[in-house]
Amino acid sequence: MTTTVTSGQTTDVRTRMEETRAFVRGLMEKKVKPEWLRTMDAEGRTPDEIVEVFAEHGLLGLTVPGDFGGAGLGLAEYCAAQEAVSRSHPVLSILLSSTGGLAPTAINRFGTPEQKEKYLPPLTTGQSRTSFALTEAEAGSDAAAITTRAERTADGWRINGSKQFISGAESADLFLVIASTDPAKRGRGLSAFLVGRDTPGFQVTRIDHAFGSPAWTLAELRFDDCVVPQESLLGELGQGLKVALSSLNEGRLSVASICLGGASYLVEAAAEHAKARTTFGAPLASRQAIRFMLADSVTEIAAARALIRATIEDIEHGAQAPANASAAKLFSSEMAGRVADRAVQIFGANGVTSDSVIGRIFRDLRVFRIGEGASEVQRMVIAKELLGKEVA
Ligand SMILES: Cc1cc2nc3c(=O)[nH]c(=O)nc-3n(C[C@H](O)[C@H](O)[C@H](O)COP(=O)(O)OP(=O)(O)OC[C@H]3O[C@@H](n4cnc5c(N)ncnc54)[C@H](O)[C@@H]3O)c2cc1C
Repeated sequence: MTTTVTSGQTTDVRTRMEETRAFVRGLMEKKVKPEWLRTMDAEGRTPDEIVEVFAEHGLLGLTVPGDFGGAGLGLAEYCAAQEAVSRSHPVLSILLSSTGGLAPTAINRFGTPEQKEKYLPPLTTGQSRTSFALTEAEAGSDAAAITTRAERTADGWRINGSKQFISGAESADLFLVIASTDPAKRGRGLSAFLVGRDTPGFQVTRIDHAFGSPAWTLAELRFDDCVVPQESLLGELGQGLKVALSSLNEGRLSVASICLGGASYLVEAAAEHAKARTTFGAPLASRQAIRFMLADSVTEIAAARALIRATIEDIEHGAQAPANASAAKLFSSEMAGRVADRAVQIFGANGVTSDSVIGRIFRDLRVFRIGEGASEVQRMVIAKELLGKEVA
């Protein structure tokens, strides 16, 4: 067995995903101590030991090309890794996305050679992490309504405004910020900037609004006359929405995979509990009502897995696939909600105590029907592809 995650010898998506999933699950079982995972919930942070294990075995910067020190892996491996780490703790998905997800992918696609050289290698060692900052108080689903403003100065840009609900911001040192450079053009007047955490006028404040694990660490970002140099612009002026939306397939399939990982853990835990728990003289697992709940969960998990894999195969064969990626995200996040609800039901009161892992994962998975494009937005994308743009 290799000691770092690799793409193996095959181009077959199913095999690549299975191999990556098995490698990462093995890593989680052998190298990541259960007490480190408990620290995440008790102290609201991801322990450095986990970051070190991930760095040592190639999980940081999974999608960063080998020229910049990354594993250079594709969407299939990235999603399989997200599924495998999320089985143990969905918040660990942030470690993978902050080093190989939205912002790193955008830097790789739109960055100048200097930007790639500067920002990509530190992501692969755990020295650096990114956050992706699009959402504002008045601009969530309607991203084009952004009002954070970037104005030209003699040799750069001055940014004013704020962002909210930004994941992983507390441990990030590099922020991909979408700001308006031409308000009159709305969505076509947005641009993308790379902002360092220590930039004067930039402030990160933790907000613990998420009701899952405290380790989610959502944050508010404030820009008060925050001046960044010209070379902070990522991509061309006015391309901000394009930069933000370019990783849409990856983001949606990644969230679908996180939900798949969490749901897989929950149905297995619920099955074990049903075998161990006796009521009225027989194990819960002998009752048809309970068996049917488990069977429905297993069926929906299998359907989500097949949809995710088929969409990745289509994308690797050149399909644009926005509606398919939306369908995978929509189905998987809503499937996870149903599976989590059944798991809590099977655990009874033990599933709803504040220290219950089952209850915590139930809450962790719930946020994915909102983050990365809410269910209604995914339905809008799917319906638009079916009905065409001319029907409003
Ligand atoms: C855990 C978590 C992590 C996040 N991380 C990040 C991050 O790292 N970076 C970042 O930029 N953002 C992040 N977000 C923000 C997220 O992207 C937004 O919450 C999401 O886009 C929805 O925006 P909103 O919350 O403002 O809801 P709104 O846009 O106000 O929508 C509220 C509800 O109305 C529905 N709705 C909206 N418009 C319509 C319509 N036309 N028709 C029907 N229904 C509609 C929505 O689907 C939703 O259910 C995160 C959110 C969460 C919960």
